Amino acid sequence: MSTTKFVRCRGVIDGTDVGLREGAGLLVRDGRVAAVTSRDQVSGPDLTVLDFSDYYLVPGFVDAHTHVTIRPGEGDQHGQLQGPAAWQAIRGVANLGGMLRSGVTTARIMTEVHDIDFEFKERIALGEVTGPRLHVSGPGLSPPGGHGSAGAGVSGPENLREAVRRNAGKGADHIKMFTTGGVSSSGTALETSAYSGEEIAATIDEAGKHGLPVSAHAHGGPGAELAVDAGIHSIEHGALLTEDIIGKMRHRGTWLVATNSILFHPTGIEQGDASEPSIMSKVTQARAAAEVSLGLVRRAGLRVAVGTDSMHGLIGFEMEWLVRHGWTELEAVIAGTASGAAVLRDSSCGTLEPGKRADFALLRRNPLTDITAVYEVDHVFRSGRQVADNAAGVLSVPPRSDLGGLMADGHVPGKGAGRAG
Ligand SMILES: [Zn+2]
Repeated sequence: MSTTKFVRCRGVIDGTDVGLREGAGLLVRDGRVAAVTSRDQVSGPDLTVLDFSDYYLVPGFVDAHTHVTIRPGEGDQHGQLQGPAAWQAIRGVANLGGMLRSGVTTARIMTEVHDIDFEFKERIALGEVTGPRLHVSGPGLSPPGGHGSAGAGVSGPENLREAVRRNAGKGADHIKMFTTGGVSSSGTALETSAYSGEEIAATIDEAGKHGLPVSAHAHGGPGAELAVDAGIHSIEHGALLTEDIIGKMRHRGTWLVATNSILFHPTGIEQGDASEPSIMSKVTQARAAAEVSLGLVRRAGLRVAVGTDSMHGLIGFEMEWLVRHGWTELEAVIAGTASGAAVLRDSSCGTLEPGKRADFALLRRNPLTDITAVYEVDHVFRSGRQVADNAAGVLSVPPRSDLGGLMADGHVPGKGAGRAG
């Protein structure tokens, strides 16, 4: 049976560059956007009107870089990443709930072990766990002992190809590799390349055979430049990017996924790893560099999406940070919605154009006059169903009957395709 709902609100920001459509509401049919229109344009016997007259409606946010199981404020992220599966699963459920409550309806997961991201993706799609729809990578590729290395690590073109094939076989939506060290690990450098150009090229080539983009964790220096030269889909973090590398990225159409909350928010690495001098000195280094590089990114007009990098619930901080560094409020909202969807190559979300999933959040204030309004999410809908009511403190799992087509690739959850070969 077809269902049609009209969401009445103060105005709609649809994730395109149109901006605010004052007085318009959202018409939803069978979980998809039918139109952004005014109440007097819609009628019909089966129409349900949802009254959110006090709210501004925005597309569900897309967190373009995060993890299910990590909590940076607790420290030793690498240890957390290697923790027991049962412990990770319990924490993961809570973390995913936090994402959803903050308005994140789609999230790209950037490395997990135990196949836990594949499992969560499917369980969320089946309605057994409440969370954003997930795009997953499986374990990221990092050399032995490198930042983010899951287990033994992997190096050499043939081994990297094999690792790509393994992740692709399990149903990965994208491939993650670490081409520089990271801030939150001891003894890794932020600019030295972890891989040769040949190794990066082999990874991208193999992923391409499976239709998968490759994203590189990279802060700067040769590790970022080699990845860009090899045709990487996106640079993740990029705190130490120089004008030269940014110019190359712009020329090649490489995305930057900015992740500033983990670096700058007081509950991020600063809280978790305060007792580790080698990490804290990199926090200081990366903060100083990121203040400069973000200005260069802005001036170059590079394409930017945002990710919380496990700072669950802080997608608002990522958008606010862009505005504090020269982006307009509308550009920041687009970075948190449509640009995220573009990085994910997911044409089903990111804007509220007809045919897209009716994933949206209701805000108490207009984010285009004050970006901090994106923190004030009261209600969250996924595929036209309310999944979070923050005012009432309720998270709900969409009923199974609502799950048709929820998976990113259109495969029906639980039917075997897309996992374990
Ligand atoms: Zn990350």
